[in-house]
Amino acid sequence: MKRNLEALARQQYDLVVIGGGINGAATARDAAMGGLKVALVEARDFSSGTSSRSSKLIHGGLRYLEHLDFKLVREARQERRRLQKLAPHLARPLAFLLPIYQGNPFSPATIRLGLNVYDLFGNLGAADRHRMLDASRACELMPALRREGLRAAAIYHDSGTDDARLTIETVLDAADHGAAVANYAEVRAIASDEGRVTALEVEDTLSGRRYEVASRFFVNAGGPWVDRVRALVKGFDGSRTVRLTKGTHVVVPPVTGQLALLAAVPGEDRIFVMWPWHGGAMLGTTDTDYDGDPAAVAPEQADIDYLLRAANSVFAEPLTDSNVRCPWAGLRALVLDGAGKDPSAVTREHRLHEDPWAQNMISICGGKLTTARALGEALARQVAARLGATLEGSSHRAPFPGGHTGPLEPFLRKSVDQAHREFHVAPGVAERIVGTYGSRWRAVLDPILVRPELAEPVAGIGESAGGYSEGPLLAAEAAFAADQEMAMKADDFLLRRSGLNWAGTLLRDAAPAVERILASYGAFSAVPSGSAARSSL
Ligand SMILES: Cc1cc2nc3c(=O)[nH]c(=O)nc-3n(C[C@H](O)[C@H](O)[C@H](O)COP(=O)(O)OP(=O)(O)OC[C@H]3O[C@@H](n4cnc5c(N)ncnc54)[C@H](O)[C@@H]3O)c2cc1C
Repeated sequence: MKRNLEALARQQYDLVVIGGGINGAATARDAAMGGLKVALVEARDFSSGTSSRSSKLIHGGLRYLEHLDFKLVREARQERRRLQKLAPHLARPLAFLLPIYQGNPFSPATIRLGLNVYDLFGNLGAADRHRMLDASRACELMPALRREGLRAAAIYHDSGTDDARLTIETVLDAADHGAAVANYAEVRAIASDEGRVTALEVEDTLSGRRYEVASRFFVNAGGPWVDRVRALVKGFDGSRTVRLTKGTHVVVPPVTGQLALLAAVPGEDRIFVMWPWHGGAMLGTTDTDYDGDPAAVAPEQADIDYLLRAANSVFAEPLTDSNVRCPWAGLRALVLDGAGKDPSAVTREHRLHEDPWAQNMISICGGKLTTARALGEALARQVAARLGATLEGSSHRAPFPGGHTGPLEPFLRKSVDQAHREFHVAPGVAERIVGTYGSRWRAVLDPILVRPELAEPVAGIGESAGGYSEGPLLAAEAAFAADQEMAMKADDFLLRRSGLNWAGTLLRDAAPAVERILASYGAFSAVPSGSAARSSL
């Protein structure tokens, strides 16, 4: 995957997608697979918007059952099943414990009913079915739980992912199917004529050069920026399509053990989740309206206090500020419906929006990581129909680039052993690399055979990892990110390609060494890394 804006700008496209989050990437992937001539331009780095800042769950959304959002839950449960086949390394089943305390808005009977529906909408087999537990069994399985007031609990299953890598692999596959893709390529202006968009003015934000990109159709996948992109078209009426709400996560010690946890926030009609993550537990999330610059979203102390209060309502020993690591915040772009509604009650379903002054542009509003592949497939079909074209293929049955593993566990065991024997990589590091890159792991390590120095840890990575990283990152991984995955800055590798995601903030000391490796592959590293990402540390 090579970045070449000059070559990208020289073509006339069928479809140009604005925004390289999961929704834009999924649309570009399916359109390219179907045979359209596609380009994707991303203002910052792929997945640097909401698509690296989520709760990282491939989930049916148990909570949406409460809002009778059956269609969304059913589609999400089915997508979970599909992703488990097509990208097993990026959709790993997770067992959740759901404690039911006195005073919770739901009773054991309602939970049992909801989980029966959840199972009915699609699970991964018998082991994936829910089961109910009494209070003592729940405390045996999760000893940190507060026993007092616990009425019962349930075990049910969703899946965990790495949202940034899911997005990067989607972009990669789009590129492998012929899409021209570029990060650090911001749409600054949009030219239109008689209600139709004709071209985009795209700035290469690394060099400052501007290019014109012409196409027959456009998809605005700007996520939280969707209305700002709409506003670039002549005739914009000032309307809004989405409401932005902020969600913060933090990492705390692994108090839930091997299990994930979903529980009610006391006194509110909301839930919070925790799940085992990079040696700790991810805890999230908040849901508060946000009016500022989307690029400046950052966690605040009030968010952290809220999360600790929620978590401490179910644990015997309280977590404190000193337990909190690497907080991050992201923005939901929720479909505007019912002003004044509680943010948590707004639908998570996406909506496609069209403006009369931009008749060949569709804007994506809202959505979920879980259902993005299906959205991309449906939207590519719609674009093709508008262009009078028929798509020749789709992502419906297509494994992701690293998804050629078959059942994950035996693949992991065999590959970790091979990586250790052939490349002398420590077993823990091998496990992390195989788990992160799936069937592409060999392409990461192969260059070590000709450049043995790539087997060394990236300088500066070690003590600073604070126990959340599974062994040091190797120079070979940074080299791979630059050479194969278009990493241009240190954070592109540390936060979005290494598999550490926000746990990568603990390795910031290694940024200069990472930048030296990226620079040796021609990446532009003279610019200070990801200012938005930095501001949220
Ligand atoms: C706190 C939180 C938790 C969540 N948890 C989950 C979960 O567990 N499971 C789940 O399924 N979903 C979850 N979601 C929802 C999911 O993360 C989002 O639906 C998804 O990431 C949105 O992707 P997107 O592509 O629409 O937006 P984004 O990822 O924000 O992508 C939009 C991109 O457009 C780019 N852009 C903007 N303007 C321009 C321009 N002018 N030129 C070029 N590019 C531009 C931006 O830089 C950005 O990268 C969560 C969301 C939040 C906020």
